[in-house]
Amino acid sequence: MNDVKHHIGDEFLMGYAAGYLPQAFDLVVSAHVSLSDEARARLESFEALGGGVLSGMEDAEIGEDSLEKTLAMIKTQAVEPATQNAAPVDDVFPKPLRDVVGGGEVTVKWRSIGMGCKQAVLHSDKEATARLLFIPAGQALPKHSHHGTEMTLVLQGAYRDETDRFARGDVEIGDQDMHHTPVAEEGEDCICLVATNARLKFESFLPRLAQPFLGI
Ligand code: ZN
Repeated sequence: MNDVKHHIGDEFLMGYAAGYLPQAFDLVVSAHVSLSDEARARLESFEALGGGVLSGMEDAEIGEDSLEKTLAMIKTQAVEPATQNAAPVDDVFPKPLRDVVGGGEVTVKWRSIGMGCKQAVLHSDKEATARLLFIPAGQALPKHSHHGTEMTLVLQGAYRDETDRFARGDVEIGDQDMHHTPVAEEGEDCICLVATNARLKFESFLPRLAQPFLGI
């Protein structure tokens, strides 16, 4: 799949290769990489550099076992050759996500979060949360900003916000400085895989009230 327009930054690919991203972000990166030849090529170059990349980074960020972790990571999460990654067109979930969900979209245990939107939390720990988000075609999410980093990968359909249009394979990174209102495009329901490392700040009263209940 080469029509991905919004690629992930090198810093996340390096973090992934080094094995120090929170697990929730690991999942989004591996799903993105399996949908983007460009990201896969960059990741492979970082993995080839291996310890060389790590030694060039700040010591403070690198634990003593990082090289070990990197090597283990390369062994266990080695990126598959492109031919094996060519998923059928009707396959919404890339392999790393199918492994976590235990199947395809039909196996997801969705929870309604209002306005026709649904979510399913796939992984949550003290560092970060990964969830699937289903937004009906034409539906907007509440305008929000972010306390931390929000990494969104589109799996089906497309959405637009104040910055651009994001379709299958595209990644958008939101941070403290970004306020946006994602709106799913007409025509196809939008499914995204989202990792967040802090709770989002919703900007209108009702969504803020609902936030503790929705968990988003
Ligand atoms: Zn956001």
